Amino acid sequence: AVDLHKRFTRGGGLFAKATTIHAVNGVSLQVRRGETFAIVGESGCGKSTLARLLLRLIDPTEGSVIHEGQDLTMLGAGAMRALRSELQFIFQDPFSALNPRMSVETIIAEPLRLHTSLNAAERREKVAELMARVGLRPEMADRFPHEFSGGQRQRICIARALASGPKLVIGDEPVSALDVSVQAQIVNLLEDLKQEFGLTLVIIAHDLAVIRHMSDRIAVMYLGEVVELARTEDLFTAPRHPYTQALLAAIPVPVPGSAAGRKVLGGDIPSPANPPSGCKFHTRCPHATALCRTTRPVLDGKDHQVACHHHQTLPAPDLPLARASR
Ligand code: SF4
Ligand code: MG
Repeated sequence: AVDLHKRFTRGGGLFAKATTIHAVNGVSLQVRRGETFAIVGESGCGKSTLARLLLRLIDPTEGSVIHEGQDLTMLGAGAMRALRSELQFIFQDPFSALNPRMSVETIIAEPLRLHTSLNAAERREKVAELMARVGLRPEMADRFPHEFSGGQRQRICIARALASGPKLVIGDEPVSALDVSVQAQIVNLLEDLKQEFGLTLVIIAHDLAVIRHMSDRIAVMYLGEVVELARTEDLFTAPRHPYTQALLAAIPVPVPGSAAGRKVLGGDIPSPANPPSGCKFHTRCPHATALCRTTRPVLDGKDHQVACHHHQTLPAPDLPLARASR
């Protein structure tokens, strides 16, 4: 993705002034083949919008998305449809992502109809295979989505995403609507499938803890911008952006003797319709200076990128997680 921007305009009528929300503000990042790349941030930070831009489920206001040398934003509808088999999306809410009037068989077979030349019998066989692979009993293929639990529905969504033989799968908070006990199962399933099918995974999450063990690299977003991007291990042990440091400090640590409870980031998220000047984090940052209030920091660095004027001189954060793993 190169310098992606997405602005939404809301409202605007006889009496109301339209507000423009810069949901994604100049994001550039590169997802490498075969990796699991996570995008993390609080709700409203633009991570879901970014995910949709990456697969061109929506069009950017500015910028481009390059997939294997092709700029997706320049492709016509037909060319984009042909590419859809390679680029799949798993939605946050497995309840609304499935058509309630279609049987599971029909749902999973749909991409096979669109993207393969399999006949009906071959499709049925393939559906049974996919269902077994995601941990569903193939005998249940004739049932309808409401007969399944949340976790099972997400498995159906995953089977549907796999059906067309994708190279890249983007999951928008694929487990956050599920019971905690089911989340780990779905995360493990995604990891297994990634290995087995050689997928590239992009996982959107609001919780760093969920993606710690599955992601290779993480981009942290705040109000439409990437503020830090690093290898997972580096981000967890040596976060450089004060926002990332605050997110990590908020993860509870199940270690006996460690301070109980979360340290929660102070202050509210500013409105994306009226973001702060300069560094957008300055209203909540304990290290903010006059420079931060006027000048936007750029993402700096190579393998470990950070957008903060003062990251080189900040004191090392006191991280319960880093302590716990020492
Ligand atoms: Fe804090 Fe300033 Fe860095 Fe922004 S640029 S994160 S306000 S120290
Ligand atoms: Mg979202």
